[in-house]
Amino acid sequence: MHLSAVVNALLAAVLAAVLWRHVRLREHAAGLEAALEASGGQQREPEAEAEHAQATAAAAAAAQAQSARAAADYAGALRALAEGGTRMLCTGRTHTERVCRFRGLCYSSEADEFVFFHGNASAMLPNLGARRFQPALLDLSAVEDHNTQYFNFAELPAAALRLLPRPVFVPEPVLIANRFNPDNLMHVFHDDLLPLFYTLRQFPGLAGGARLLFAEGRGRGAHFRLYELLSARPPLLRAQLPALGRLLCFPQAFVGLSKATTWYQYGFAQPQGPKPNILVSGHEIRQFARFLAERLGVPTGPGGPDPPPPPPPPPDQDYILVFTRTRNRLILNEAQLLLELAREFQMKTLTVSLEEEDEEEEGEQEGGQGGTRPFADVVRLVSRASMLVSMHGAQLITALFLPRGATVVELFPYAVNPDHYTPYKTLATLPGMDLRYVAWRNTRPEDTVTHPDRPWDQGGIGHLDRAEQERIVQSREVPRHLCCRNPEWLFRIYQDTRVDVPSLIRTIRRTVPGRPGPTPGRPQGAVSLYPSKVREARCQGSARGDAGARLTVSWQMPWNLRYLKVKEVKYEVWLQEQGENTYVPHLLTLQNHTFTDNIKPSTTYLVWIRCIFNKILSGPFADVLVCST
Ligand code: UDP
Repeated sequence: MHLSAVVNALLAAVLAAVLWRHVRLREHAAGLEAALEASGGQQREPEAEAEHAQATAAAAAAAQAQSARAAADYAGALRALAEGGTRMLCTGRTHTERVCRFRGLCYSSEADEFVFFHGNASAMLPNLGARRFQPALLDLSAVEDHNTQYFNFAELPAAALRLLPRPVFVPEPVLIANRFNPDNLMHVFHDDLLPLFYTLRQFPGLAGGARLLFAEGRGRGAHFRLYELLSARPPLLRAQLPALGRLLCFPQAFVGLSKATTWYQYGFAQPQGPKPNILVSGHEIRQFARFLAERLGVPTGPGGPDPPPPPPPPPDQDYILVFTRTRNRLILNEAQLLLELAREFQMKTLTVSLEEEDEEEEGEQEGGQGGTRPFADVVRLVSRASMLVSMHGAQLITALFLPRGATVVELFPYAVNPDHYTPYKTLATLPGMDLRYVAWRNTRPEDTVTHPDRPWDQGGIGHLDRAEQERIVQSREVPRHLCCRNPEWLFRIYQDTRVDVPSLIRTIRRTVPGRPGPTPGRPQGAVSLYPSKVREARCQGSARGDAGARLTVSWQMPWNLRYLKVKEVKYEVWLQEQGENTYVPHLLTLQNHTFTDNIKPSTTYLVWIRCIFNKILSGPFADVLVCST
């Protein structure tokens, strides 16, 4: 055989191999979609199923047609990785604030580790050295600094790629994060869905076609369909990665979650409570809620950035929604509660529970017909309720779907202090949520039913010594505690309660004297806009001989005021003697003023001026003025 023929044969073999790898990659991708679709397919309506099959077939055909180009893509991607290596650029100063963008991040299924390849174009910012392990590069979940949720990677020289299995590239951008507790609806929304939703919108290229990769290693969980609503492609679970390839590489990966939307800390380091520096308002929560409701097929009014809310239902269609739990933390006199609420507020009362959803999920696992309907029904009901009444618990996270002006009534079992457990109160009272919030607690031991013999995680205390059991049973309030296994807390929170309805109604009436629901006449959902700086601020000092001195200050209204309708505009002027720490504030209505009281001659004053809308919306100070008398 001629040498050239041997070379040609070799080349053909190499090309075939490349193509094969590539085609396999495509097959993998298509196969993965198909597998994910098959597992989720039972949840689809028949027309959606047919549409989806068509779309999948079209995608497969397009993939084949492009196979030659894609082979070149594969070779290019491999070369870029083998020569250039991995690149990482992060935002955030500390591991709890960090989200990182990678090019060429890989995952070894055998090692079950993410891998950073050092090549000639590698960059790693921040380049932390050993501090990358103190304690980690970043939090993979939105729960702050939880030591089971850290992300790091192993490092290798890019040359090691020759010794490793041939990489399989995941063509689309991925967002890699941990779900914190995918079986608890509160955690699903607060720790996962909201942070995922806004992280996807924070970085270019993610909102459209990104794939979510859940790296925490758990199964689908009870609410997987909600995660599926966030992106066009089905999310990947860590356990699915080995089936995709032994070495998976992501040309574009974002790792970590924005914590900007979280409002609550669960008590890992200190007793639970609202986060100290909440960055989210009801506006962003409602934008997210509207997105999700629409994906669930629940109408929320016309689209657009700030659409008018759907018209309130006519008064005879108003209703109070009572959220019930069927497995534990029961309301024992539900029928009486429904009846008396209806009588007091002259409204229908309806009940709803999450259990239908769980059953649906179980049905699905057994091959039944699943769908997003049950949760969609919950959302539909909540989104038109005037009042939502519920025992404390994860189901109350659905309050984020309530219409503005509605009331959240949270019931607490005996010996549980509402002020110590406020995830739903904090949500309901975020500025811009426009909800009213009422907490009621059972103060009568005769109205509670305890379950000391249940397993410890459902409030049982049989595993404790007698004295401790006795102490817990006698205790009248659970002292503040850390998460998550405090037996006294679990004992009390899993009690069932006979609600003292007259006491509950008295409590609600303190907050809702009239009819619950949107307040007529009050514009709902108006955003609070702040004044900008006052303009053309000037001051002039003068001495008046024996009469003392005077300081004349003038300014123009803020630039944005002329575009706004503001009920009350005031100006605050602070006078500070140079060198002194204290200042004297003055609240003024006009745009100029001459100060004479306590103004000293031959003295230099610093003058600070700002505008205030409606008593509470204080704008920024204009540049400080310096004037002497
Ligand atoms: N759950 C439910 N019905 C029940 C008890 C629990 O649907 O009778 C759901 C609950 O909404 C949450 C999950 O099961 O999504 C876990 O409940 P758990 O009591 O552990 O948490 P909590 O509600 O106290 O946050």
